[in-house]
Amino acid sequence: MANLKCLENFVPSEGNVYSEAEMRNINIKILKERGVSVDDIAQLSYWAQSKYLDSLTIEEMRESVLEILGKRDQFHAILLGVQIDVLAEKGMLDNPLLNILTHDLGLFGLDEAIAISIAGNYGQIGVTNFGNMDVNKPGKISLLQKDKNRCNCFLDDIVGAIAAVAAIRVAQRHAIAKATGQLNI
Ligand code: MG
Repeated sequence: MANLKCLENFVPSEGNVYSEAEMRNINIKILKERGVSVDDIAQLSYWAQSKYLDSLTIEEMRESVLEILGKRDQFHAILLGVQIDVLAEKGMLDNPLLNILTHDLGLFGLDEAIAISIAGNYGQIGVTNFGNMDVNKPGKISLLQKDKNRCNCFLDDIVGAIAAVAAIRVAQRHAIAKATGQLNI
């Protein structure tokens, strides 16, 4: 039996390489099973960026989150991080790791390391934007951390990193549009 219901009948491809559409589809299903929607992440991205961009819309952030969810690094981070969270939740890891994860020990740090590896793909601004999410824990990030019925040790940081990166992508598009006058944003 699969650890995640949404992957129960999943047949891996021979080369283990998936298209952006496949990765996006799997990511959305896994996140949904763990209680996170695309809109939840879009709201976090909006929280990060709306103070800098007057014309920003949630729809724009949603589209950016969907784009980011199709990328391979994010796909691998979600697969790995969520799988560890679920194994911890089921008590299927040994101590001391099991207790460290189920108590979300602040000194653990490898959950943030995976998130930073995603955020770092978008430069230092990606890392600082993730840091903002990690310190302030807006909306869904705080809810994931406070959920006593689940282990979201890796998920909260991965969600924060995806939101941070999606926000930067939109900020860069706005900056280019403003500089070139090419896009009507
Ligand atoms: Mg964490």
